[in-house]
Amino acid sequence: MEKKFRKIGVLTSGGDAPGMNAAIKAVTCAAIDKGVSVVGILGGYSGLINDKIRPLNKIDVADIASKGGTMLYSDRCDEFKYEAGMQKAIATCKKHNIDGIVAIGGDGTFRGATDLSIRGIPCIGVSGTIDNDITATDITVGYDTAMNTVLAIGDRLRDTSESHARCMVIEVMGRHAGYIAIETGLALNAIGVAINEIPFDKANLFKKMNEARANGQRSFIVVVAEGLGAEFSEGLVKEIEDNTGIEARFVRPAHIVRGGIPTLADRNFASKSGYKAVQLLLDGVSDVVICSRHDEIVPMEIKFALILDRMYKGKLKDGDLDKFTPEQIKEMEAICAERRKYFTDMYEVVNGVSC
Ligand code: ADP
Repeated sequence: MEKKFRKIGVLTSGGDAPGMNAAIKAVTCAAIDKGVSVVGILGGYSGLINDKIRPLNKIDVADIASKGGTMLYSDRCDEFKYEAGMQKAIATCKKHNIDGIVAIGGDGTFRGATDLSIRGIPCIGVSGTIDNDITATDITVGYDTAMNTVLAIGDRLRDTSESHARCMVIEVMGRHAGYIAIETGLALNAIGVAINEIPFDKANLFKKMNEARANGQRSFIVVVAEGLGAEFSEGLVKEIEDNTGIEARFVRPAHIVRGGIPTLADRNFASKSGYKAVQLLLDGVSDVVICSRHDEIVPMEIKFALILDRMYKGKLKDGDLDKFTPEQIKEMEAICAERRKYFTDMYEVVNGVSC
């Protein structure tokens, strides 16, 4: 142990996700078992700035793993992005003797964690977002529950559309990422899935629907990723009606998908991530995010993860790659290629089996 940790903090920040509580529980129990006390920072980074800190003991977290949301609340805090806000946060850490932090959230949260690590408060990130939009990790805490919630909603919509011979256009969350849409589209037997990652062939959708209706099919489901925008998803309803004569309805489950009892997969990934985060933090590691790569729990440097995200989104800026070795750049390119292949493979299957 490079540094003697007396106390660590844990926070949840950005969009909430089912499973965050299991991560809080894991961090709390793992740290206490190592003789380190734990405090919860309420409302993400705003809790650090405004000194909203509460002690966490095992008894406080004993029954939270099965609950959605986050017992530490979540918030977005612009003040933290600026040096003055950051300094207030550091002062709060000093006041409470917080020697390190586990920050549970998405890429914005990890940016904050890096900023704190650089300023002497070691931080480790744990993914907590339903969107699965962190390129460095194959899965994120909350993603599995969100997909299963969409599945349950979609199954109900299938029932009513079968009764009324309708098409349901379901717009699902995911920010700019199509993971939830493509996975649930396959599971719901959607006749079409529209995502940002792959151009959507509307003419082909209408053709398939017309053929299926001529063949006697009554109900249809089309899944659209929210990243395409409301104009696209809501507009598609009328276009379907105009081009197929099939009555269509629009459904946006929206925040319903963010709540609910976390699935086994989310609870367990959250627990493994929280446990690993504490192990690493107490071993003197910081500025990393806990990822799942090919079913293995591995840390990745946050700066690597953030630039990898930019590379994947085609948003690299001049000089972004300067700090990385040729091997690291190759690894980034390989991960990006893996992600793109995932979408092309999934899209092919969705279209290959849909009706
Ligand atoms: P997510 O973590 O889910 O991506 P946000 O992007 O809203 O959600 O980020 C969550 C919080 O992380 C922000 O409200 C802010 O407090 C902090 N944050 C985001 N970006 C930065 C940044 N560039 N520097 C410091 N903190 C940041």
